[in-house]
Formats: sequence, C-alpha cells, structure tokens
Amino acid sequence: MASQTGAIVQQSLNAMMEDATFLPQVQGQRREQAFQSLAAILSTPNKVHKAFLRIALENGNVVRIPAYRIQHNDALGPYKGGIRFHESVSEDEVTNLAALMTLKNALHEVPFGGGKGGVVINPRSYSEKELYQICKKYVQYFTDVLGPDKDIPAPDMGTGEREMDWMMAEYKSIHPGSPYLGSFTGKSIVNGGSLGRKEATGKGVYFTFRYMMHDFLHDNKDWLSRGSNAFAATALAHADMPLTIAVQGFGNVGSVTAMEAYKCTSIRGRVVAVSDRNVTLYNEGGLDIPALTAFAIANRGDLPSSEADLQASGARAQILDREAVLYLNVNVLFLAALEDQIHGGNVQDVKARIIVEGANAPVTGEADEILASKGTIIIPDILANAGGVIVSYFEWLQGKETQFYSEEEIYRQLYAKMQKTMNSILPAYFGDPLPLRQNCFVHAVTKLSTVLYRQGKLY
Ligand code: NAD
Repeated sequence: MASQTGAIVQQSLNAMMEDATFLPQVQGQRREQAFQSLAAILSTPNKVHKAFLRIALENGNVVRIPAYRIQHNDALGPYKGGIRFHESVSEDEVTNLAALMTLKNALHEVPFGGGKGGVVINPRSYSEKELYQICKKYVQYFTDVLGPDKDIPAPDMGTGEREMDWMMAEYKSIHPGSPYLGSFTGKSIVNGGSLGRKEATGKGVYFTFRYMMHDFLHDNKDWLSRGSNAFAATALAHADMPLTIAVQGFGNVGSVTAMEAYKCTSIRGRVVAVSDRNVTLYNEGGLDIPALTAFAIANRGDLPSSEADLQASGARAQILDREAVLYLNVNVLFLAALEDQIHGGNVQDVKARIIVEGANAPVTGEADEILASKGTIIIPDILANAGGVIVSYFEWLQGKETQFYSEEEIYRQLYAKMQKTMNSILPAYFGDPLPLRQNCFVHAVTKLSTVLYRQGKLY
C-alpha cells in the first residue's frame, strides 16, 4: 500500500493495539500476532491483475496498453471500485486507491470490499472507436475475475457511463444467460443505471461540508464552544458568515459540487473560483455556475479558457492560471481534480481554512500534518467522496431486484447514510486532537479488523 494510506492505517492499528475496548478477549502474544496479521492484510492487496490490451488503432498501428485490476480485500463483500483512464496510472497508484476503497466501504457500512482498475492512456488521444475497443478488451482480459458477486467496477477519472455501458455489454456477451446488470455500476439510466449516480459523488462531497458546517454546527454550538479543540474553533469562526468557495476540477465531481454550492440556501456561500486542466476562473462577486456548466457540457468538459469562450458562455470572470485556484484568499477549497495537489512545497501558500477532498488523496501526508497543526479542517476523501460508491451500491441492489428507485429516494438514502457516518465521527473529531482523517481511518480499520477477526482471518 502506498505512502499516505499505509501510514495512517499503521497509526490506526497502533492506536487500536492500546485500546482496551478493542478485542478485549485477545491479549498478550496472541494480540501481537493478531495485529501483525492485520497490518499484513491491510498493507497488501489480495490479488494484482495486469494485462497489456492489444488494440488496433484506426491508423493501422497495433499498440499494447498496460491495464490493471487490483483486488485489495473482500472481507466485507465483492470487490468494488472505479476504473481510471489516465496516463499517470501505475500499479502503486491503483493499489493505493483499491486499499482506500476497502476502508471507504468499511467506514460507510457499504457491503463491498475494495478494488480499483486503471488503463494507462490519455483518453483524449483516442477516437471513440478506439476507446470502445479498449473497454471491450479490458473486460475480455479480466473477465474471469469480474462479475456481480465478484468484483464490480464503476467509473473513475477519464471514464463515465458510456464506458460502463460498453463494458457491461461486453460482459453480457461473454456470459450469456447470467445476471449482468450488477456487473458494472455508473451505467446510463437506459442500461440499468441508477438515477442520481452521476451526481452522487459531487452531491455527497458538498453534503459532508454542509452537514458539518451547518446542521452539525448549529445542533452542537454550545458543546463545541465549551470543550473546543482547534478544529472546533475553526468551524465556529466560520459559522453564520458568508463563505467564499473555490473548486478545483470541473468534471463529474467538481462541476456537481460547484452547482450544489451555488444552489445551497442553508450556507451563505458564493463560488468565486472554479478550475480545470487549463485554467482558473475567478469572480469575487460569484461565478455563474449554470452558464459554466452548460459551456463545459457543450465543449468536451472544458471550462472557457479565452475571452471569446467566456463571452460565448455568458459567464463573467477573470482568467487565471490553472494552479491559481489553490492559493486564492477563500474560506473553503474543494479539491476535485487529481492527487497530490497540496504538498510540502506549496502548503504554506494555501489560505483556505476548510478543505474538502472530492478527489482521492489530493493532499499529501506532509501537507496534511502542517494543515492539521494550524487547525485547518480537512474533510478527507474517505468521508467526503463516498457518494459514488454508496449510490453504486443502490444501483447494484436495483439491478439485482430489477426494481428502480426515484431520484428523490436515492438522494434521501444517500444523505441518510452519509449523515449516519458523520454522526459517528464528528463528536470524536471535535472532542480530541486527532484530525478527521485519522478519526475516519480508526473507525474504518476497527470495523474491518473486527470482521476479519470474526471470520477467523487473523491466525
Ligand atoms: P473527471 O475526469 O470527470 O474530471 C476531472 C477534472 O479535473 C476535469 O475538469 C479536468 O479538466 C480537471 N483536471 C485535470 N487535471 C487537472 C489539473 N492538473 N489541475 C486542475 N484540474 C485538472 O474526473 P472525476 O470523475 O470528476 O474525478 C475527479 C476526482 O474525484 C478523481 O480523483 C477521482 O478519483 C475522484 N473520485 C471520483 C468519483 C466519481 O464518482 N466520479 C468518485 C470518487 C472519487
């Protein structure tokens, strides 16, 4: 398991070892052995599948593209996790993301294990026909290890419902007569997808912020101001004031998060900046998010990046460079693009006191510690971006039952699940010195470890 996740899992295990209420019946040498087993299980994936997909390009060249499916742990249910199409995909990255999925599912009580997939391509460099071939080949090469009760992929960076539809169709033709609706989630509605799945991650990301900074804060103001730690002080300092908000990344996650923030009536916020792979757009008075969203939909997902584009979009903004979004003088920064965006080299320039991780691992371990020491609130990926996998679980259930829920019902159940998780974590977070990420990991590792112990996997 790579860097940050591995280090936090080990810290969680150390804390649990000292906790007399965790597995009180396991003591002495047996306890040490059990913890060694746990560390070994959590730090390594169950299986690593790698293939080179042979693709005939439209220009006649034949290429071999590296692809992965990594199955981290299935103690809680079938493996589950997205497939990423990006040129920076590597075995280490996919393994780390698969481990994060195991823990995310444990934290939110989703009955799935953790898996992840990746293909080393920049999808923008391939035609639609070539991408279709890549999706089909991915399923052909990994078909033995995928399936509704084995391992259920979903979209991730660079993939969406189009790719899931293609993949499910390939799975269906390879396994005629077998159930197939639950083989992939994040499909289009006409292909058995769930209403609300596409928006689920972005909505969930915003919900975690709104729930903490509005509902929870209001219900617990007295308690928070009495025994408050540095994080509670930061939360209270931002209560009931107009908040300026910036969002990095304007894809599946970032654009929906920005729209939720734009529409939100319980927090008096305004989205002053959004960014993507090309630019940051800034308007101190607030950006026209519906206009920018419409522009991005019509322009392969890209924000306006020139004055002419801006005029065409109807939005008014200053065009800044891509990284500017990270350093603006705002209260809240949503990170919904890539890993490692805030790191040891730039953390001192980040001014936002509340950071929400829509992307996976956008803040490095080093930056995380520096920000925590200043009382900056970070709502971590494991907590904030689970909306996608939660609604994927609803999609999987609907596929099994071939009964479909309304959009309203999906969001009601999504928020109820995320609220339950938040309520089990936030009192501890605002009551002790551990950052939220560590609190979430201790919670997830405790749940998973108890299950592993009861399944007899620690001896
Ligand atoms: P996406 O491909 O739809 O969008 C990515 C966005 O980031 C685009 O706007 C792109 O222009 C922008 N971007 C790319 N490089 C950038 C850079 N260097 N600087 C600033 N912006 C850049 O991807 P997505 O589905 O929105 O996923 C974003 C992140 O959220 C990923 O880390 C992904 O793993 C994570 N995530 C996604 C989901 C989901 O359901 N889609 C679920 C959980 C986590």
